[in-house]
Formats: sequence, structure tokens, C-alpha cells
Amino acid sequence: MMPGTIAERHAEAVTVEAATRTEVRNLTGAERTVALYASDMPNGRRHHTSEQYAAWIVQGAERLGRTEMRRLALYLRGWQVLNVNDLMTEQIQTRHELRFPQRHRLVRAGQGSGLSVYVDGMTKVALARNGKVALDGDCPCEGTGGIMLWGNDPDASGEIMCPVHCRAEINAYRRALLAAR
Ligand SMILES: [Zn+2]
Repeated sequence: MMPGTIAERHAEAVTVEAATRTEVRNLTGAERTVALYASDMPNGRRHHTSEQYAAWIVQGAERLGRTEMRRLALYLRGWQVLNVNDLMTEQIQTRHELRFPQRHRLVRAGQGSGLSVYVDGMTKVALARNGKVALDGDCPCEGTGGIMLWGNDPDASGEIMCPVHCRAEINAYRRALLAAR
């Protein structure tokens, strides 16, 4: 083989790699997760490199199309926000399980996405989108922005800000708390 051919191939491979990385950096964490879920990523416990995850993310993103990928990612984030705040509703849990029937695959996809964000980073445009959530169903606050929680005694009861509908306020409050440290 001529030496020139090898050099050319190498350059091509590097270009493809760089393009993949750029594309992946433009996606939020949840978008990478749903893309991995939709990709050819195998199930199982094997570890993969960030390069391999990047390739599957691009494959899954193309498979879903941008609109569908973003929609799924928003719903996934909405489910996560309710889940972490212990506010899950049956309706949203059911729809989530229908959308992502392979629970372990979703966990694996989340891990791959986490590694990808850690290694490849995220553009500012993607970062701005990253905090957004949507619910596939009715919010436990019923659109009021407040959720009443009842404890064992009146002092342990109170209204909390809805983590979905008061996201901006809650984030501002957290930032103020951090700044005051
Ligand atoms: Zn709400």
C-alpha cells in the first residue's frame, strides 16, 4: 500500500471523530441518554469507551430525529424530577415504563451519557436546554405551582414549591444558598 493512502485514511478517521464529538457536545445529558437507548448499544455489563458511546449517541440521535429525541429527553427529565422528589404519579410512571420498557437499558444509557458529558463536555446552547423538563401527564401540583404535603403532625405539613413548575425559583433559591456559604 502506498504511504499516501494511509495518511489520507488517517486524516479521514480523525475528521469523522471530530465531527462526532462536536455533534455529541451539542446534546444535553438526557438527549444523549435517549439516543443511546435507541441505538445499537448492546445490553449487558460490558464497559465501553467514550468514543464508542459517542458513535452510538450519534446513531440513536439520527434514528430518532431531533424533534422526537428532544421530546423523549424532556419527558425523561420530567420523570426524573418527580422521581428524585418522591412525587411520582401513577400516570407518569406508567407512561415512562411504556416509553422505556427496558429499565436496565435506560440505566446503562444514563451511565454512558454521564461518561460522555464528563469526557466530551457540553456546549452552552445544550447546557441552556439541559435544565428543561416536561411531563407526559398531569403534574402533581395540578398547575398551581404548589404541592401540599401532609406529615404526621401539623408542623410537619406544608406546601412545597412544585419542582417542575417552580424550577426557576427553586434554582435561584439554591444559588442564593450556595452564595451565602
Ligand atoms: Zn407542577
